Amino acid sequence: MLQINCPWCGTRAEIEFTCGGEGGIVRPLDSEAMDDRQWGDYVFMRENPKGLHHEQWRHASGCGRWFNALRHTVNYRFEATWKIGEPAPAEAAAYLNQGAAR
Ligand SMILES: [Zn+2]
Repeated sequence: MLQINCPWCGTRAEIEFTCGGEGGIVRPLDSEAMDDRQWGDYVFMRENPKGLHHEQWRHASGCGRWFNALRHTVNYRFEATWKIGEPAPAEAAAYLNQGAAR
């Protein structure tokens, strides 16, 4: 069974968690100025990579808190998990910095 590390509770079984989709999506500050295409991109368009992916997860059957995760979409391996609002650990920061350069 897949094990996931909750940043607050420690390692628990996958069945206790729910995935909330792509992580790091920030609501636009000036949404009134956006056209329909830009708003649609914000609401619906998400990355679907084969490989590492920044996601948000919730420990639904545990502490109930949300956290960030870096997960590999092919082998499901979690490379890192960290609390919302905290800096990403080194193993995730390298991946996230690549995304900022895209
Ligand atoms: Zn937890």
